Amino acid sequence: MRIILLGGPGSGKGTQAKMLVEKLAIPQISTGDIFRAALKEGTPMGTKAKTYMDKGELVPDDVVIGVVEERLSKPDLDKGYMLDGFPRTLAQAKALDGILETQGKSISHAVLVDVPDEELVKRLSGRRTCRSSACGAMFHIMFNAPKKDGICDVCGSELYQRDDDNETTIRERLGVYNNQTSPLVEYYAAKGLLRKVQGVGPIEEIFSRIEKAIN
Ligand code: AMP
Repeated sequence: MRIILLGGPGSGKGTQAKMLVEKLAIPQISTGDIFRAALKEGTPMGTKAKTYMDKGELVPDDVVIGVVEERLSKPDLDKGYMLDGFPRTLAQAKALDGILETQGKSISHAVLVDVPDEELVKRLSGRRTCRSSACGAMFHIMFNAPKKDGICDVCGSELYQRDDDNETTIRERLGVYNNQTSPLVEYYAAKGLLRKVQGVGPIEEIFSRIEKAIN
């Protein structure tokens, strides 16, 4: 199964993607995670991406498409994959169609995790992420607090607040999402691939809504 997860920043799509890939035993491809890993390694691509990420802007399409094209050529994707945070523009969606076409493959579902803007701001400003890239678990200081302050329940690593999870950058990211990414909802609806799921409520409940939508 090849699934796209759509949703605003903080919609919980990253959390849901992690649960889904575990259940479906397919890899998660998160362009945001790829950029953060590249930055940690100090590659020129990571440094370039950071200048956009810190402002809440999108990394240019040619960079993102190149990264995804390379990832989609790897041999571990036979059973499918979950795209998290890509595509984010119409140009990216069309490029993805082109890559898939050359591979003789297609998207199975585009799942939209639907959450109102004000709820997104509340969620993102309290979000805390595990520093271990192997884990990457996410918590919220109010809605899903870790058992021990600042420590990941899953692996015991330190939790941190992403540089782009501050209110100014969050508003900017939301604006970018509404202007550039939300047209993808129409794009996938027109192809008959859109599965819209309410993204408010307990994490497990949202997960079962997604499962139902793709089954
Ligand atoms: P995320 O972890 O998905 O919230 O992404 C964090 C940041 O990485 C975004 O705010 C963008 O600056 C950048 N980014 C991630 N994926 C993309 C993409 N598909 N297109 C452009 N920029 C991206």
